[in-house]
Amino acid sequence: MNSNPTIWRATVLTLFPDMFPGPLGVSLAGKALSSGVWALDARDIRDSATDRHRSVDDTPAGGGPGMVLRADVLAAAIDAAESAADAPKHRPRLLMSPRGRPLTQSGVIELAVGPGPLIVCGRFEGIDQRVIEARGLEEVSVGDYVLSGGEIAAMALIDACVRLLPGVMGKLASGVEESFSGGLLEYPQYTRPQTFEGRPIPEVLTSGDHARVAAWRQAEAEALTRQRRPDLWAPRESRKGCRMPPKSTTDG
Ligand code: SAM
Repeated sequence: MNSNPTIWRATVLTLFPDMFPGPLGVSLAGKALSSGVWALDARDIRDSATDRHRSVDDTPAGGGPGMVLRADVLAAAIDAAESAADAPKHRPRLLMSPRGRPLTQSGVIELAVGPGPLIVCGRFEGIDQRVIEARGLEEVSVGDYVLSGGEIAAMALIDACVRLLPGVMGKLASGVEESFSGGLLEYPQYTRPQTFEGRPIPEVLTSGDHARVAAWRQAEAEALTRQRRPDLWAPRESRKGCRMPPKSTTDG
């Protein structure tokens, strides 16, 4: 475990710490983890249980199916994680949750420039509401579907942040020019062979004319976004509508 308190650090509270680093231990994120660009602490919520069965959950008040993660056990786990010597001060406290604020690229950028979050992974039917309020947990969702636990959601969030940390991606431009960064989806990509099953690479991309390539990519990104993500496209259009038209050279 890296105990350097100055690097970007994700602290994950989970009932399944063995799931980590999992996919975060390979490729870009994995290399950056081993070389100390970022740190990961996966802490077992069960270590904060106090009874001899190490119980962390109980039946829902008011009845209903499933079990609920206890407020007292989770609060103790959060407090223990925050009092660790290497824990960053004033970090975001997140709870992965399908009812949370949707995770977006701008949210990821905000998290990546900070000290790194503490992330609670839920299980069962959910978490006692009182600990969410008492510890100021901000609920974050990775999509409108229900996973069986918060771990995979937390991994998605951490991966998206880590690739933006300085020194993780080979070329800065690969982070700047991709989907969502300019409010658009990314343009289509091609590489060799020149022709694949009768489909050639678009001529403009092999023309060597950088201005034409840039214009083609912009047009493709706009067309894709308009077609596939009207929710991203509409705000762009309405912003354009609000802008003052460029001043004509013939105006008074
Ligand atoms: N009963 C909860 C509800 O309807 O909102 C779902 C609980 S789910 C089975 C268990 C845990 O998985 C949640 O507490 C949360 O941590 C995680 N989870 C499930 N879907 C998620 C999503 N879309 N985004 C983030 N976390 C999710």
